[in-house]
Amino acid sequence: MSKRVVIVGGGVGGTIIANLLAKKMRHELKKGELVIDVVSDKPEHFYQPGLLYMLFGLKHHDELVRDERNLLDPMVELHLHPAVKIDKDKNEVHLKNGVVIKYDIVVIATGSRPTPEMIPGLREGGHWFYEVDACLKLRHELMTFKGGKIVLAIGLPHKCPVAPLEVTYMLDDWFRQRGIRDKVEYTYTYPIGRLHGLEPVAHFAAKTFPKHGILSETLFNMKEVDPNKKTVTSLEGVTLKYDLLLTIPPHKGAQVIEDSGLGQNGFIPTDKFTLKMEGSTNIYVVGDTTNLPISKAGSTAHFESDIIVENIASELRDGLTPFRYDGKVFCFIETGMTKATYIMFDYNNPPNPVAPSALIHWFKLTYNKVYWLTPMGIL
Ligand SMILES: Cc1cc2nc3c(=O)[nH]c(=O)nc-3n(C[C@H](O)[C@H](O)[C@H](O)COP(=O)(O)OP(=O)(O)OC[C@H]3O[C@@H](n4cnc5c(N)ncnc54)[C@H](O)[C@@H]3O)c2cc1C
Repeated sequence: MSKRVVIVGGGVGGTIIANLLAKKMRHELKKGELVIDVVSDKPEHFYQPGLLYMLFGLKHHDELVRDERNLLDPMVELHLHPAVKIDKDKNEVHLKNGVVIKYDIVVIATGSRPTPEMIPGLREGGHWFYEVDACLKLRHELMTFKGGKIVLAIGLPHKCPVAPLEVTYMLDDWFRQRGIRDKVEYTYTYPIGRLHGLEPVAHFAAKTFPKHGILSETLFNMKEVDPNKKTVTSLEGVTLKYDLLLTIPPHKGAQVIEDSGLGQNGFIPTDKFTLKMEGSTNIYVVGDTTNLPISKAGSTAHFESDIIVENIASELRDGLTPFRYDGKVFCFIETGMTKATYIMFDYNNPPNPVAPSALIHWFKLTYNKVYWLTPMGIL
C-alpha cells in the first residue's frame, strides 16, 4: 500500500517541504510507494518580502510571482482548489471542489494573513503594504504626500516582525531623497513597553531612532481608528492624530484552520521541537500557521521545513522521528535605502544586530532575486 503525504498550502513552507521530500524519497515515489500532494488555493506563488520594495516602486508585481506548478517537482501532485476542511479524526483533507484526499501524514502550511477588520475604522482610515492592492494604494498616497504627521501603528500577531522597522528606516531615507523629510513628523508605535519584541532589536532601534528623527510611542495597542477625525486610539487610552496612518494589521491564520477546529484565530498549537500539532502523531505544522512565539518569517518556515522533511522520511522508512527544530531564524533588516543589518537567533541564543552596511543590503537585494531557488529546495 502506498503512503500519502498531503501538504496544505503552496507558500514558502509547503513548497519547500514538497520538493525536499520528493528529492529525498525519490526511490519510493518512483516505485509508487509514496504519493505527495500539494493543495493550493491559487496557481501562483507570491514572494511576499518583495512588497516592501514594491511600495517604493523598486519591484513590479510580475517580478514577485511564479507559477507554483513550475516550482514544484514534476512528481508532486498539485490540486488547485482551496482546502475547506481538515478532518483530523478521519485523516482527510476536503477540497472546495468536493474532492476528499485521505492522508497518512498531513503538513499544514496555510500561512497567516492581515485582518484589518479586527480594528474598527482601520480598513477605512489606514494603509498597509502587506497585500498587493493595499501596497499599491499606499504607494500612491506616498507619492502624493507633501508632508504632515505619519503614524505607524502595529497589530499583533503579524508576520515579519522586522518589517515595521524596515519600512520606518526606508521611509526616513526616501523622504530625505525627495527633499521633504523636514516636513514629515514620523511616529513609530509599538504594542509592548519597548520598540520591538526582540530585546536586542528594540535596543538597536532605541539607539538609532534619534539619529533619524523618528519619534516613538510604546505600549500602544491599536484599539480603533476614526477616519473622519484622522485619529488612532490605543487600548491604553492614548490618541494620536495622523495625516497618513501606516499600519501592520493584526493577523489571523487561514480560515480553514478555524473551520476545522484546529486552532484559535487560525493558529495551531504546535510542539516547538517536533513541529507536530499538540496531541497528534500525523499532523505537522510549518511556518506562520504555528502558534509558536517565534518570528513568523519565511526563514523560520525554511528552517522548520528541513526538520519536518527529515522526520517524515525517517518516520515512513523506519518509524522514527529523531530530528528537533532548534528555533533558528534569520532576518535581514533594511536600515535605509542603501544599508542593512541582519539577525540570526534560536531558542537558546538571542539575536545581535551587526553594524549596518551596504554589503548586507546588497545581500538582501541579491536574495530577493534568487529567492526562487528556496521553494525549489535548491538554496
Ligand atoms: C511585507 C512582507 C515582508 C516580509 N519580509 C520577510 C523577510 O524579509 N524575511 C522573511 O523571512 N520573511 C518575510 N516575510 C514573511 C514571510 O513571507 C512569511 O512568514 C512566509 O511566507 C510564511 O510562510 P508559510 O509557508 O507559513 O506561509 P505562506 O508563504 O504565506 O503560504 C501559505 C499558503 O497557503 C495558502 N492557503 C491559505 N489557505 C489555504 C487553503 N484553505 N487551501 C489551500 N491553500 C491555502 C496561501 O494562499 C499561501 O499560498 C514578509 C512578509 C511580508 C508580508
